[in-house]
Amino acid sequence: MAQVPEWRFDPLTGRRVLISPDRADRPRAVGPACPFCEGHEAETPPEVLAYRDPGSVPNGPGWQVRVVPNRYAAVRTVEDLPEGYLPAPTDEAPWGRAYGIAEVFVESPTHETVFRNLSHAQATTAIRAWRNRLRYWRDDGRLMFAQVFKNEGSSAGASVEHCHSQLIGLPFVPPRVIEEFRFPDMHPCRFCSWTVNPRLDSRFVSETDMFVAQCPVAPRFPGETRIIPKQHSATFENASDDEATNLVHILFDVLRRIDHVFSNPDYNLIVRSAPFRHEANFHWWIDVMPRTATTAGWEWGTGLLINTMFPERAAELLRAA
Ligand SMILES: [Zn+2]
Ligand SMILES: [Zn+2]
Repeated sequence: MAQVPEWRFDPLTGRRVLISPDRADRPRAVGPACPFCEGHEAETPPEVLAYRDPGSVPNGPGWQVRVVPNRYAAVRTVEDLPEGYLPAPTDEAPWGRAYGIAEVFVESPTHETVFRNLSHAQATTAIRAWRNRLRYWRDDGRLMFAQVFKNEGSSAGASVEHCHSQLIGLPFVPPRVIEEFRFPDMHPCRFCSWTVNPRLDSRFVSETDMFVAQCPVAPRFPGETRIIPKQHSATFENASDDEATNLVHILFDVLRRIDHVFSNPDYNLIVRSAPFRHEANFHWWIDVMPRTATTAGWEWGTGLLINTMFPERAAELLRAA
């Protein structure tokens, strides 16, 4: 029995939580019962985008990357979004239906579980799909913000092991995103000045023609790495085809280094891109967060994270890998 997901706002603490009971029914798919493998297309909702072989038919075999609505979506479809609805939970409206969209990118027709084991072409197609779905929802106009992310491995939150990533879009901008979005809004852009001579910095990890990888100054996890485009742009959805191709080079390089230094950790990848309607001087980036530590009582109580490794040391290890 489907239950409508709701936002709840706690006026005592300002905390917002999405209550989504259907998420609990997610199958934990492994091996031959995998719904994401080619030939199992009927086990997912109909595709909204697919990169297909010539002559293949939608929702059948013969594809490289498929994008489908998330059957166990944390949010309710945007089709039901009422006009003038105030979607962000506040003091005046402490709960409300959670409207938005949730999509899954199935990144390989075969049962591959490690993103960096995909072919370069396959991964490039997946990254172009991220960009194209963000463009689609930006142009649709009903959403204010969407996040593309990947959880790889069960301790990073993945319930299906088959390579995939996700997009969740909301009709409001999460308060934390607004807060973080404000900081890079400075002139000149700090990322732009940093990417001019990135090797001079002790937190430098690696670079390609179009991207630089560094450990951020205040990382949450040992080995956390930030991938920054050299070309100033606020949004990932404006990335060119060449940037998508080049991004795979640096992403595979960073993931290989992290695997080597931290023994193949599970990880989260998060595309940090500006909200759809914005005026700030933002510079998009990607966070790669290896799950090399756990958060416990102190962190939950204070929101202050404890990291056991200086980013300068992590960068030194990653550079040498
Ligand atoms: Zn599979
Ligand atoms: Zn910049």
